[in-house]
Amino acid sequence: MKVDLERPIADDAGIALGDEYRALEARARAVVAEHILPREHEESDEAAFAMTAALGQGGLLDACVDLDVVGICVVREVVGAASGLADSMAALQGLGYGPLALYGSAAQKAAWREKVRLGQAIAAIGITEPEAGSDVGAIATTAVRDGDHWVLNGTKRYITNAGIADFYSVIARTGGPGPKGLSAFLVPKDQVRLVERYHLVAPHPCGEIALENARVPADALIGAEGEGFKVAMRTLDHFRTTVGAASVGMATRALKEAVARAKARSQFGSPIGKFQQIGALLADSWTELLAARLLVYRAATAHAAEDPQAGLYSSAAKMYATEAAQRIIDRAVQIHGGDGVRQGSVVERLYREIRSLRIYEGTTEIQKVVMSRGLLA
Ligand SMILES: Cc1cc2nc3c(=O)[nH]c(=O)nc-3n(C[C@H](O)[C@H](O)[C@H](O)COP(=O)(O)OP(=O)(O)OC[C@H]3O[C@@H](n4cnc5c(N)ncnc54)[C@H](O)[C@@H]3O)c2cc1C
Repeated sequence: MKVDLERPIADDAGIALGDEYRALEARARAVVAEHILPREHEESDEAAFAMTAALGQGGLLDACVDLDVVGICVVREVVGAASGLADSMAALQGLGYGPLALYGSAAQKAAWREKVRLGQAIAAIGITEPEAGSDVGAIATTAVRDGDHWVLNGTKRYITNAGIADFYSVIARTGGPGPKGLSAFLVPKDQVRLVERYHLVAPHPCGEIALENARVPADALIGAEGEGFKVAMRTLDHFRTTVGAASVGMATRALKEAVARAKARSQFGSPIGKFQQIGALLADSWTELLAARLLVYRAATAHAAEDPQAGLYSSAAKMYATEAAQRIIDRAVQIHGGDGVRQGSVVERLYREIRSLRIYEGTTEIQKVVMSRGLLA
């Protein structure tokens, strides 16, 4: 019996996702085929803008602004299989707008929701700092009230869309030490200085920004004063599982490439797929891919059902899917031999693209901290 690697997600995951998600997957596949795959090897800002606009016009960013976790997973799985850059742009439209979707005022939402949804404005989120990575409670950027304004000072690093975003959801300190002293702010691009753009292993717009006496009006506060940590964590809660979904998309693509290569390439007078060691690599990869997809959609549906364990499932899904995808892609590179490490091949690009997903939105180690705390509680 033949394994069908093109099966709809809902059939493969075996979890009731509903007809709207089957329709969303079909739409995502059509938009990706027309607008993303033809540019899959591009890494420029111009490509990033064009891809974001195509995703928005195709209706694929609706789930991101509505924080529909199952929908974001479907979109990221399909988009991630085609382009890490496009996946990053889709994710950040949701992550950057997420604080507004969850806690924003009517005016803040009116200003940005439609533009972000349609891919006409670029969103970003500023949490990470030189001394505050995994430890978000250590944020040092300050926001001080000055009459009708807040004045922000500090540095944010590893900010995706740094320099190209229209606005940044920024977490800054308004009170005492620790998580309770943090608040969230909507900061427009004209109050932000780009310090540097990074050269990442798989290029996407990312860099360091400085807030130097950045002035925003009093109503730029997102949620209440002192709620910044909650704003950041609840936003990340909606996206953690979806990082796993993007990984599943990348791993699916890698497995397809590996299968095709194992059939097409012959050595010792035989297709290399006939060698048991190569077949075993493929079997291991498919099993891990299925397990990762099951866990991702289990966590996503738990989130949709407001299951109290949803956050813990999402930690398991994010950790397992990103780590499994790294292994699956590594096996695909191995099956390609020398061609697997040549720049320009799909598996070489996937090998670089998957790496950051094990780090951002909570490293693998931080997911283990969360789960072990849950187990020992
Ligand atoms: C490509 C990319 C895009 C990003 N985009 C954004 C963005 O848009 N906005 C934003 O705010 N941030 C962004 N980040 C930052 C990202 O969230 C942080 O890199 C991540 O949270 C880890 O922080 P750090 O890099 O400072 O590493 P550190 O926190 O210094 O961690 C270093 C190592 O120590 C481990 N470690 C830390 N604490 C513990 C612990 N308690 N137990 C065990 N191990 C521990 C970590 O797992 C890691 O292996 C991005 C990062 C990357 C790589």
